[in-house]
Amino acid sequence: MIFRLSVKGKDRNKKERDKKGIVSMSKILIVEDEISIAELEKDYLELSGFEVEIETTGDRGLERAIREEFDLFILDLMLPNVDGFEICRRVREMKNTPILLVSAKKDDIDKIRGLGLGADDYMTKPFSPSELVARVKAHLARYERLIGSNVQENEIIEIRGIKIDKTARRVYVNGEEKSFTTKEFDLLTFLAQNPNHVFTKEELFNKIWDMESIGDIATVTVHIKKIREKIEFDTAKPQYIETIWGVGYRFKV
Ligand code: CA
Repeated sequence: MIFRLSVKGKDRNKKERDKKGIVSMSKILIVEDEISIAELEKDYLELSGFEVEIETTGDRGLERAIREEFDLFILDLMLPNVDGFEICRRVREMKNTPILLVSAKKDDIDKIRGLGLGADDYMTKPFSPSELVARVKAHLARYERLIGSNVQENEIIEIRGIKIDKTARRVYVNGEEKSFTTKEFDLLTFLAQNPNHVFTKEELFNKIWDMESIGDIATVTVHIKKIREKIEFDTAKPQYIETIWGVGYRFKV
């Protein structure tokens, strides 16, 4: 059977395509009040191709973490004004961005666990910068997989030379995009989704047009004619939308 409702890899939306290579292009925010540590982390991360910004106070870090788009946060716990626990908690209320907590005290690890802040990882100072880079990469890759699997793929109907992208509301005839009005698109899609089913003009009118719409079943005839002009090779001998005399129309497969 030629009719199929399929999902195509090449129709994945742009966002997902842009997500490719996220690991090497990611933007990271470090909130750390010890400048030398912050600079060291930044240097190593930049060497690995990341874009890195530093904030040295908790309030400023929190503000940017909430307002701006970053791909990962590295938060020191002991910070001026607002501590890392609070930043983590507030960010997690709004975003799923990976968070790596950094602490000077081993005891903090129990606290991090106990508070259930939603941090993805934690490290105790001193740590090796390459260990930090490895963990950052791992969390970004994991997050990318998570995001990627959540991206909805476009719903496509393909019948012989016609391809209807329901998600993008676009129609292609033999690879060439044709422009459709809203009602033309709705009518074509409805018929194509119910192949070989004969609908009366009344049924189609009630299905596609609101009750309040001005018009009558003649509107259906006019729209079928317009659709045929766009999809049929020869409108006198329609290959897709067939007229069933005295009854209505059907999409032939
Ligand atoms: Ca500190």
